[in-house]
Amino acid sequence: MDHETVKQRLLEERAHWEREVEAYEEEFSESLEEASDESPYDQHLAETAGVTLDREIDLTLEESARATIVQIDRALQKLEDGTYGRCDKCGRGIGDGRLGVAPYATLCIDCKRLEERGL
Ligand SMILES: [Zn+2]
Repeated sequence: MDHETVKQRLLEERAHWEREVEAYEEEFSESLEEASDESPYDQHLAETAGVTLDREIDLTLEESARATIVQIDRALQKLEDGTYGRCDKCGRGIGDGRLGVAPYATLCIDCKRLEERGL
């Protein structure tokens, strides 16, 4: 893939994840509205707790969407630096196969696995 194609793909991915984050935000304000529509008495505590739990799940999804945006920005920066396709950690090639699936990958599969294990 040439520079421009990769950049285009990254920007498209970025737009996609930004829409996801916005959708989560919207969903959150809607669920808050629903919660406050109901009378705020004790019998509704359980329902409010449900909303909180939903929010926590959304937060996790939102956080991973935000983390992906950060990673995409990093990949775009690497593209400008001329280090795109090289692992941030060990400097080896990330591999076209991996970049084809995840164009915003900034670590090779080995370093990624180590990172996921917290090493
Ligand atoms: Zn590596």
